[in-house]
Amino acid sequence: MISVVLVGAGGRMGRAIERAAESADDLVIAGRVDEGLAERLSEPGSGGPAAGYGAGGEAAPGGWNGVVRPGDVVVEFSSPEGLRRAAAVCRERRVPLVSGTTGVTSGEEAALDALAEVAPVLRAANFSLGLLALRRAVSAALRGLPDDWDIEIVERHHRAKVDSPSGTALALARDAAQARGWDDGVVRHGRSGRVGPRPGREIGVHSVRGGTWVGDHAVLVAGQGESLELRHVAEDRAAFAHGALAAARFVAHARPGRYGLEDLLGE
Ligand code: NAD
Repeated sequence: MISVVLVGAGGRMGRAIERAAESADDLVIAGRVDEGLAERLSEPGSGGPAAGYGAGGEAAPGGWNGVVRPGDVVVEFSSPEGLRRAAAVCRERRVPLVSGTTGVTSGEEAALDALAEVAPVLRAANFSLGLLALRRAVSAALRGLPDDWDIEIVERHHRAKVDSPSGTALALARDAAQARGWDDGVVRHGRSGRVGPRPGREIGVHSVRGGTWVGDHAVLVAGQGESLELRHVAEDRAAFAHGALAAARFVAHARPGRYGLEDLLGE
């Protein structure tokens, strides 16, 4: 049985993972951390997640240190601060980490690299398998098209999302740049004013925010008199939650090091 500690347990993704874990028989959510609601822990048998999520929940004795134990797997969907803290605690305990937080900087990446020296770390900006298929399709399509077709990426997310563009849109832009043999400097975030004609060597990225969109990414490739649109729509966070649990199963038995979703699929 894999024992999972969920960081960001009270958030949208935390709750989706909790729901997905209910139908798994090889994995149990043994601890929960969510600083937004005070650091706390809900042990199995203590009333389940509902016990932890009411208003004014009490702090767990020992905070993180009382929750994460050697032998656990930490699954983190919280914030860049939560990610850093999770990486530090996991390093101390030599515990594997699955991380999905987006909007991270080189500081968080360095914390994950440090953890990867002693434990497996699987990080992905998007845990949906359909999105992985989109990434592959985009690379294949671009390799089959002339270099003068323009590439634009449009992403839509719910109104509460705090980072823009989405980590997934940036990953798609990197894939597209790589397929063309360009460096990352070609990415352009939105356009406004008299920007002049579009340069050929540019990848436009546009963020739409509103309502409850879970995650929608479209890659548009436009040539002379024709265009192509490749799009993935996540309708439910279950799409990411099942991928995150599959990642937890993978890191539970992996060697120390950095991994991505591709490794999970044995590529
Ligand atoms: P959310 O705001 O609903 O939930 C985040 C939770 O984390 C909150 O309950 C908050 O209190 C808690 N938290 C924040 N900082 C913390 C800290 N320092 N320690 C402990 N808990 C902390 O957000 P969400 O929609 O669940 O998304 C969380 C993150 O996951 C975001 O970065 C989002 O972009 C990302 N995300 C990634 C994927 C993916 O597939 N990789 C999918 C969806 C969302």
